[in-house]
Amino acid sequence: MLQKITNTVDLYQDQADLANLASLCSTGLSEAWDRRPYLDELIAKARIEPLTVLAATDGSVPQSNQYQAALATIIYKGHCELERTRYVSGRVTAPDAELNAISCAVRLAVKQANCQHIMVFTDSMGSAHRAVDPSIHSGQAFSLSVCRALQEWFKADDLRRITFVYIPSALQWDIHGEAHKYVTELKVRVGRRKTDNSIDTLCSKAAHSVLDSWSSTFQDPTYQGSEFLELQWPDRQPIQPSYLNGGPWLSTFGHSITEFACVCQCITGHTPIRAYYRRFKINEPHGCTCGAALQSRQHVLFCCRDRYSVHYPHPRFLRDIASFLKHNPTAFGFNWDPSGVG
Ligand SMILES: [Zn+2]
Repeated sequence: MLQKITNTVDLYQDQADLANLASLCSTGLSEAWDRRPYLDELIAKARIEPLTVLAATDGSVPQSNQYQAALATIIYKGHCELERTRYVSGRVTAPDAELNAISCAVRLAVKQANCQHIMVFTDSMGSAHRAVDPSIHSGQAFSLSVCRALQEWFKADDLRRITFVYIPSALQWDIHGEAHKYVTELKVRVGRRKTDNSIDTLCSKAAHSVLDSWSSTFQDPTYQGSEFLELQWPDRQPIQPSYLNGGPWLSTFGHSITEFACVCQCITGHTPIRAYYRRFKINEPHGCTCGAALQSRQHVLFCCRDRYSVHYPHPRFLRDIASFLKHNPTAFGFNWDPSGVG
């Protein structure tokens, strides 16, 4: 039966649609505007179909976390509004709120008499996909209720089908604009009693609290270490810890354990160069083999022409450090180990 749901659900309207979707998301209003004539024609055709029910959905997550997320659905046949509903759904993410709205729309639409085709107008195709996916995810209960409602509805008639249509919310288009207006009017504060949180909201809160804690701890020089090499992005913003893709350092160097070990030695200043021997009063010469008085990390990165032939203009940039180490893999490594790792 789930197979049948997947077969019968059309997640897009024409072949070019998915490609459009990707570009619409990234390019904003001007290109989204080009979609308007297509949507106008689509809804004009749907409105003269006597067995088609239209459902406009929208979720809204207020900026302030004092207010709950809200969702709304308006059901039409032709130009006639059959039903509208809106309610709050606690603290959830925007895709959660939209999934909740789609679930509400489907449950209302399947109850309408003389309906063979449900068209759901949504601004999140990700939530549309989730709505018909029963596997474990945030808001799974809403997907299960969609699957169950559709399962029973499909069973009664082989010609029944559902279509999800993407509406860029910035268009404020037709019935979707109406649902948007309807949902944004609903403002309910988070109450004193415990408010429901979705799994994705809790994950996002945990991730942000970890990031805040990392960032503030990282500002403390005693934590960072006096020798920590502060690196920058190409726009000269300092690199800050992040959990995305393993963080900025691991995602740049993590492909090789030995390279990453050398990078760590370089960035933390715990690298077997002569300045390190001087710092820890190890009985070794302090000067560089090129004749410079001190073989410091800066000297190795910027100007030593003895062993390190390739230098970069901005060794404060992460990618320049990566390139330097590619050309000089053992620059900050141990001499007695072929991979430079100690
Ligand atoms: Zn040198």
